[in-house]
Amino acid sequence: MNWNSYLKQIRKGRHEPAPMTKTRKRAYVQQLGTICPYCGNDSLVRTEGDTWGKEPERMAIRVECTECKRHWWDVMTLTDLVEAAQ
Ligand SMILES: [Zn+2]
Repeated sequence: MNWNSYLKQIRKGRHEPAPMTKTRKRAYVQQLGTICPYCGNDSLVRTEGDTWGKEPERMAIRVECTECKRHWWDVMTLTDLVEAAQ
């Protein structure tokens, strides 16, 4: 099932929350983390960041869906820096 047909099912109320799968994770990443992978809502709140275990090049950001109240962690990879004014 592709992401668009998945979202259609969710919005028609035919989809019950299901365990996370590789396909759903891939769809979430392809949508750049803008849509809840459980219910399809786009009202997500990112609140915390911390390094990802023993991998200093990665960071985990806590994401919560304001609709279904589930939360998960986005894994961000270091790609660049932005200088701050001194
Ligand atoms: Zn949700």
